[in-house]
Amino acid sequence: MMKNFTYHAPQTITAALMLLDQALARSEDTYILAGGTVLVPQIKESLVRPSLVISLKHLPMLKKITLDEKGLHLGALITPVELIRSPVILEHYPVLAQAAATMAGVQIRNMATIEGNLCSAVPTADLVPSLLAPDAIVQVQGPNGLRPARRVADRTRACHKRKLSPLSFGPSRGYAGH
Ligand SMILES: Cc1cc2nc3c(=O)[nH]c(=O)nc-3n(C[C@H](O)[C@H](O)[C@H](O)COP(=O)(O)OP(=O)(O)OC[C@H]3O[C@@H](n4cnc5c(N)ncnc54)[C@H](O)[C@@H]3O)c2cc1C
Repeated sequence: MMKNFTYHAPQTITAALMLLDQALARSEDTYILAGGTVLVPQIKESLVRPSLVISLKHLPMLKKITLDEKGLHLGALITPVELIRSPVILEHYPVLAQAAATMAGVQIRNMATIEGNLCSAVPTADLVPSLLAPDAIVQVQGPNGLRPARRVADRTRACHKRKLSPLSFGPSRGYAGH
């Protein structure tokens, strides 16, 4: 049977990080909910049994795609459909749109996120190769502030071992190439 858990959907990154910090102090089994395409079925099937779930759905600041002199910045909550439809991506990083278009069906492409794809860290994650190819880097923010930027290649390994979870909160920005 599915275990009851506490659910929060904070409205600011600061509030989300405070919740993470408090959960750490209480040693709670905490999961971040991005698009939920992996986590929700896992909870329903009792494959994971969190005591606390922190949803990022009210953090629109993590949904931005911008291009500047450093490269392309992708918010953690960008979905495959947003990659496919972004004029900036289509013009400058079409490989990302091509990878996103290969993912699942339209429902999943509308809900899934880059962050969830990276943090699931399964060998079949379709967006990861298109981030590895231009040696993209990930900026992670935790309760103790911004962590040093890391290459996607390194972060993917770490996520697979769940070293970053539940303390990580990203990628808040990713630069795909320079
Ligand atoms: C029917 C179906 C088909 C699919 N097909 C494909 C496919 O073709 N290609 C593919 O690549 N994937 C596929 N997936 C897997 C999934 O949809 C993708 O990996 C998606 O990108 C996950 O993103 P999400 O936002 O939904 O992740 P979530 O479900 O929200 O999160 C996934 C995991 O990452 C953890 N997490 C999220 N954010 C953080 C954070 N900041 N810190 C620490 N941990 C975090 C969550 O706690 C959870 O454990 C499929 C899934 C389903 C159900």
